[in-house]
Amino acid sequence: MIPNDPIEHLISLLSRLPGLGRRSARRAVLKMLMDPGDKMLPLADALRAAADSVRPCEVCGNLDAASPCHICADHHRDRRLVCVVEGVADLWALERAHAHRGTGPEDLSITPLLRRIEGDGIEEVILALPATVDGATTTHYLTDRLKPTGCTITRLAQGVPIGGALDVLDDGTLTAAFKARRAL
Ligand SMILES: [Zn+2]
Repeated sequence: MIPNDPIEHLISLLSRLPGLGRRSARRAVLKMLMDPGDKMLPLADALRAAADSVRPCEVCGNLDAASPCHICADHHRDRRLVCVVEGVADLWALERAHAHRGTGPEDLSITPLLRRIEGDGIEEVILALPATVDGATTTHYLTDRLKPTGCTITRLAQGVPIGGALDVLDDGTLTAAFKARRAL
């Protein structure tokens, strides 16, 4: 279908993306139209290339142009450590922070995870799930299911953010921080 108004069509497509309202989409489109050779055609090519090549990793569910993804294929990673996260956005956040040097099954159903623990010699599973009611429920469920395998199960600490003052924390966070205190 060729839209009657390609500019409006482009604006409405862009404004469906997170973080881009109609106003910012319009500004982006105007910028592109003023210099299509530099700002528009390379973008069109990159969109096509990403759509054609990026797939979920068969091991961990990460999105990458290769499967196994670059994380699962990285031989410098510690294969005895696996980190479970809620989704690809959280996986990328951990990667940006260089917080985890193991491999990661994202959004994984329990069976492949159990198979990996038994087959791949995984010694520790880190449950990096959100500090929400759903996250806590999933953490409890996974802990129950993974305990019988004998591998170490850990979860991320909860509490005072780096650079955060105590008197601005909500009660739940402060209580969690006290519970998770550790010896120095
Ligand atoms: Zn992977």
